[in-house]
Amino acid sequence: MNFLEERIVKDGVVKEGNVLKVDSFLNHQMDIKLLDQMGAEFKRRFADKPINKILTIEASGIGIACIAAQHFNVPVVFAKKSQSINLDGDMYVAEVESFTHKCINHVIVAQKFLSPEDHVLIIDDFLANGCALQGLIQIVQSSGATVEGIGIAIEKGFQSGGRIIRNLGFQLESLAIVDGMNAETGEIQFRDQSRPETENAGEEKEEICRSATLD
Ligand code: 5GP
Repeated sequence: MNFLEERIVKDGVVKEGNVLKVDSFLNHQMDIKLLDQMGAEFKRRFADKPINKILTIEASGIGIACIAAQHFNVPVVFAKKSQSINLDGDMYVAEVESFTHKCINHVIVAQKFLSPEDHVLIIDDFLANGCALQGLIQIVQSSGATVEGIGIAIEKGFQSGGRIIRNLGFQLESLAIVDGMNAETGEIQFRDQSRPETENAGEEKEEICRSATLD
């Protein structure tokens, strides 16, 4: 087990409805030493990429992205979520369905913070169905910038987001991939990422996100 998997086993709580709570160390109270280790690991995995900006989404991605940014020495832009359609100014907007809140958010980035010269690493805390990520990817692509890679703290491998995003051809690096979890026993099963991927490869036809650029 790697350092993040060990911490998930120690302090993560499996909830009904395929939700893993990690709020004691990752997305409510934050263990900054752990976040720093995660940042170093993202830097190692994307060492060959010319990343000049990190993009994340409020709120839980911000802490992870900011600490990672110190390892890349680049600024962080976070996409804002709004349920309002009262938007003005020059903005990139995508519509994203929230896994945890079961509602539709508008995800917004001011156009002045993303341009065609940018080489972007997208970072987020969780990957479930991939809706949040697809919204962020659309925003980067609307701006003409390049998605150099995607760094995720915890991927829930039994949901389809990881497969969809990898099949789109992006370098997606998840520090922990949970392949199964049991709310009754609290057991968590991790994917062995040292083994070459075979059974997870294949065509992904599923389309489960309601996500489209509006501008
Ligand atoms: P997706 O858009 O991939 O379906 O869901 C990703 C977003 O939902 C993440 O930004 C994260 O905030 C939230 N999320 C998804 N699954 C979980 C989970 O099991 N636990 C927590 N704490 N957040 C989750």
